[in-house]
Amino acid sequence: MKSIKSVYKIGNGPSSSHTVGPYHAAHVFGKRYPEADAYKVTLFGSLAFTGEGHGTGKAIKTGLPGAEVIYNREVPESELPHPNTMLFEAFKNGELIGSNRIFSIGGGSIRIENETSDEETEVYPQQNFNQILHVCKSRSISLAQFIYRHEDPSIRIYLKEIWDAMQDTIRRGLKAEGILPGGLGVARKARMLLEKRCYNESADVTMNRVIAAYAYATSEENADENIVVTCPTCGSCGVLPSVLYYMQYDRGFPEEEILDALAVAGLIGNVIRTNASISGAECGCQAEIGSACSMTAAALASLYGLNIDQVEYAAEIAMEHNLGLTCDPVKGLVQIPCIERNAVAAMRAISSVNLSRFLFSTRKISFDEVVETMYQTGKDMNEKYRETSHGGLAEIYYADH
Ligand code: SF4
Repeated sequence: MKSIKSVYKIGNGPSSSHTVGPYHAAHVFGKRYPEADAYKVTLFGSLAFTGEGHGTGKAIKTGLPGAEVIYNREVPESELPHPNTMLFEAFKNGELIGSNRIFSIGGGSIRIENETSDEETEVYPQQNFNQILHVCKSRSISLAQFIYRHEDPSIRIYLKEIWDAMQDTIRRGLKAEGILPGGLGVARKARMLLEKRCYNESADVTMNRVIAAYAYATSEENADENIVVTCPTCGSCGVLPSVLYYMQYDRGFPEEEILDALAVAGLIGNVIRTNASISGAECGCQAEIGSACSMTAAALASLYGLNIDQVEYAAEIAMEHNLGLTCDPVKGLVQIPCIERNAVAAMRAISSVNLSRFLFSTRKISFDEVVETMYQTGKDMNEKYRETSHGGLAEIYYADH
């Protein structure tokens, strides 16, 4: 398996392949040619056809300020090396000083033509959770220790950057108000959720309301095309940060332990990515929200100090009860049902941990089994429920209320 870094990427929402990947590419290219006084980025294929609606240009200009972005729809996809191709060019005093063709290959990942990236390096010899479990048990180490033994020493710095970016997104989202773009008229609700305490509210209700506010804050920032962290995707970016933010700021868990939990969540996402899919277009929302829910349950269970079987069971429960979840975003915007779904998944992750705490010794399904099931279910799913906006809520939505 590759590094857990492949699961977490910072970039503009609302789409991993159309905004996070291009932002990442722009950032990398800008670092290569800091002496340039002008940049030109030409988009081809899917990026050229849908990039304007998805905000690809804005994402590139965030990563490469001042860049000129051109949408070239003339080249047929059959003549492109990849459906999401970008040509980056750097100029100095009107002269071309460097160029790269970069491909956005999904989940926010990129590949630079004729180069092997760090992302493609295999970091873990293990391929599934059962193999990881075996190593951890035979050496009496935790999942976090297992991760730190395999990853580059810089992983802690990387996780801290990721956690800082997640927190920034929540804080921005909690301050923002107004209507989200795209024409659906969806109002931001995070701030209202955080402030609207009910009369005689119980501690449980407060916890759910506050975590939901954090999830809405992140997902609303994503829908507004602002900076988020994929975990594992943009559409599902509100689940994990909401629970971890609550645990640090409302429950007082130290940041060092939050970073360990983030690492464990990354490992779970990595197992799913390696053996199944984290793409709504490939396997429906179970692959996005189901994976995020599973990652969050594992993170929370490890934060509570539960044993490795309990962590696995929490992740398994969280995925199992998202099986079959379709992707049907209304008008193709990552708003309905996506934003609310992030908050619901955060609460489901907490319930999964509560069950795993008591019932792990009676479990019958392993994490690897549920991941395989999710993948097969996704493959069997009718195409209209896989991020096409041709089925489900996207089809039935009346738009008159
Ligand atoms: S419904 Fe589709 S777009 Fe929305 S979060 Fe789920 S997978 Fe992503």
